[in-house]
Amino acid sequence: MKRVYLDHNATTPLRAEVRAHFLEMLDGLAGNPSSVHGAGRRARAALDEARERTAAALGVHEDEVVFTSGGTESVNLAILGSARRPDRAGGLLTSTAEHSCVLGAADALAARGIPVHRIGVDRQCRVDPGEIVATAARTGVGLVSIMAANNEVGTIQALEAIGTGLDSQGRERPLLHTDAVQALGRIPVQLGDWKADMASFSAHKLGGPLGVGILFRRRGLQVEALMHGGGQEGGLRPGSENVPAISAAALAVELAVRERPSVAATMREQSLCLWHEITDTLPDVELLGPGIDSQARLPNTLDIALGGIDGRMLVARLDLEGLEASAGSACASGSLEPSHVLLAMGRSAESARSGLRLSLGRETSREDIHTAVEILKRVVEDLR
Ligand code: PLP
Repeated sequence: MKRVYLDHNATTPLRAEVRAHFLEMLDGLAGNPSSVHGAGRRARAALDEARERTAAALGVHEDEVVFTSGGTESVNLAILGSARRPDRAGGLLTSTAEHSCVLGAADALAARGIPVHRIGVDRQCRVDPGEIVATAARTGVGLVSIMAANNEVGTIQALEAIGTGLDSQGRERPLLHTDAVQALGRIPVQLGDWKADMASFSAHKLGGPLGVGILFRRRGLQVEALMHGGGQEGGLRPGSENVPAISAAALAVELAVRERPSVAATMREQSLCLWHEITDTLPDVELLGPGIDSQARLPNTLDIALGGIDGRMLVARLDLEGLEASAGSACASGSLEPSHVLLAMGRSAESARSGLRLSLGRETSREDIHTAVEILKRVVEDLR
C-alpha cells in the first residue's frame, strides 16, 4: 500500500543532504566542544560554523543564536527566562491560540503569581494587533509572546504591526517573543521588521533532525537560564552540545531559508489543488481558518471539518488506509479534549473535535494529493 504523509506540521522527514551531513559529523566528530584538545577544538569549530550559518540564514548576529533541544525548550527559555524583568512590572501577554508550550509556560508563570493576560482570536484565528498594543500599554506587561503562524489552522499573525505598535511605546515597550516554529521555511521570517527581541525555531519542522531548537535572543538582552551547569550557549543552556545534530540543523535552516520562495510557491499550489479536489469529491467540507486564497494562511496547511465527523476517529481510519494526517496538533492528537485553537476561534466543543489537519511538505506531489483524496473519500463515505 502506498502511504501518503500529510503531517508536516507535526514533523518533516530528514532531508537527504542533511542526513548525509549528519552522518559525516557523527563519524568525524568525537570531542566535546568545551575540551581544549584537538578533538574538542574540532567539535568547537563545527559548532561555531553551525552558529554562523544559522545566524546568517536568520539575518542575526552569531551571539544572538542559542541552541536548545527543540521549539518547546526555546519557547520556555524565552518566556520563563524573561517575564520577570527588574525594569518592568513583569507579566506576560499572549493569545489563546498559541501552541501548548507557550500556554504551559504561561500557566507556570501564573502559578508563581506573575500576571498573565490572554488575548482572544477571531474566527480566522487572527489576533488584533491594536488590541495587543493597547493591552500591553494598559497592563504594563514585560513580555508579549505571539506566534508567527498557527500550527493547527495555519493563520499567519500580523507580527510587523504588533512589533511596530509595541515599538512606538519607546523605552516602556515590552519585549516581543514569537514562536516561529511553523513559520521558518514557509513564510519570510523578518525578525528586524517584526521588532522581535526573541524568536523560537525547531529544526525538525524544516527537514532537520528532531531534538534541536534555536532561540534567537537579541544581543544584550538578559534572559535567565532554566537549568544550571556549565557555561555552554552563553550560560543560557548548560550541558554539552549535540554538535552533529546542531550542525545538521544549521544546514537544514540554511536550505529552508534559501529555498523558501520556490518551495512555498509549490506548496501553495499543491494545497490549492488538494482543497479543490476535496471539495469536488466530498460534500459538506468546511475550511477552518483564513480563506484558501488568503495570504494570511501558511502555504502548506489545510485544517478542514467534514460535516461533524470526529477528527480523531477520522485520523485513525485514514491511517489504516495509508493517509497520515492529524486532528489538530500532533501533541494533542491523543487527547480527548476538543482543540483549544478551534475553541478560541469561537467554535462549539463538538465542532472543535472535528478538525482534520492536512499539512504538506516540500516533496508532496500531485500523485500524493490524488491518493490522499481517494483515501479520504473512501473513509468519509464509509463513516457517513
Ligand atoms: N510551537 C509550535 C507552533 C509548534 O507547532 C511546535 C511543534 O509542534 C512547537 C512549538 C514545539 O516544537 P518542538 O516539537 O521542537 O518542541
